[in-house]
Amino acid sequence: SAHRAKQAYGDYREGMELRAMRALAISNALPTAISNNELSLVFQPKVDAKTRHCLGVEALLRWQSEDLGWVGPDEFIPIAEQSDLIHELTQWVCRTALETIAVWRSQGVQTSLSVNFSASDLLESEVIVALHDVITRLGVPSDAFVIEVTENAMIEQSERVSDVLTELRALGFGISIDDYGTGFSSLLQLRSLHATELKVDRSFVMNLEHNPADQTIVHSTIEMAHRLGLSVVAEGVESEAAARLLSDWGCDTLQGYFFSKPRGADEFLTWYQAHEER
Ligand code: C2E
Ligand code: CA
Ligand code: CA
Ligand code: CA
Repeated sequence: SAHRAKQAYGDYREGMELRAMRALAISNALPTAISNNELSLVFQPKVDAKTRHCLGVEALLRWQSEDLGWVGPDEFIPIAEQSDLIHELTQWVCRTALETIAVWRSQGVQTSLSVNFSASDLLESEVIVALHDVITRLGVPSDAFVIEVTENAMIEQSERVSDVLTELRALGFGISIDDYGTGFSSLLQLRSLHATELKVDRSFVMNLEHNPADQTIVHSTIEMAHRLGLSVVAEGVESEAAARLLSDWGCDTLQGYFFSKPRGADEFLTWYQAHEER
């Protein structure tokens, strides 16, 4: 068993080394991802819970690396967040997504746009100034732009982040508390952050119709959020049964595979036309 312990430790070390090498490979390849045109965006629809009309999209980043193949955002975003690279990515996402929805809007597709921000993006005044410039130049109304920040990111840096969020609210942008329910904050703490929207984390929604505990949590979260004046989005809606429960409880907006997976820009337009003509 001394042998077995030694072998387990060896496996563990090997796992650690593999992970460290992968992280290193990612951080080496990522800085040139933008200039090599390796990044793209997909868009996932958000629909009105009552009418099921498409109200907006969330832009999600995709990376096809020449060296590493497809790398998921859950893997490369945390690595980008360890340096200033994340600001470049966020700016690229904002600019590219805003240009895309500006074209859609000129074709009569009036969707809002949600973009994921990292906590440190909110501490970079350049990111915010650049954002305001792009929005003004493209003529996208500021209330059609929603910044999603995870619950944990908001709480960790709460003092400075709350100043910046106040500034962004003054510019007219929407502020969404992403992945709500996975952290340890209370809605009371989040109230001072001037958010406009709360996104219930998909882990509470994906099996909603089969899980009474999730039902209790989600139903009461919707009621509390509404009392605090927040609009509620449920992400991870995978079935008609879940969509119906959420709509019965007054949830405002639904997002998930039941309606659509994230799609490239052209594919989204095709989906949108079929969906709105249904
Ligand atoms: P997120 O912000 O919570 O985004 C939602 C994730 O849930 C997306 O994964 C989406 O594809 C997935 N999803 C949507 N509907 C369903 C569903 O019905 N069921 C299930 N099981 N999953 C669903 P994705 O695209 O892999 O993104 C993962 C995370 O990576 C995002 O989580 C976000 O935290 C981060 N991320 C993605 N793009 C960006 C970005 O441009 N900037 C930053 N900072 N983070 C990003
Ligand atoms: Ca999000
Ligand atoms: Ca989320
Ligand atoms: Ca997430």
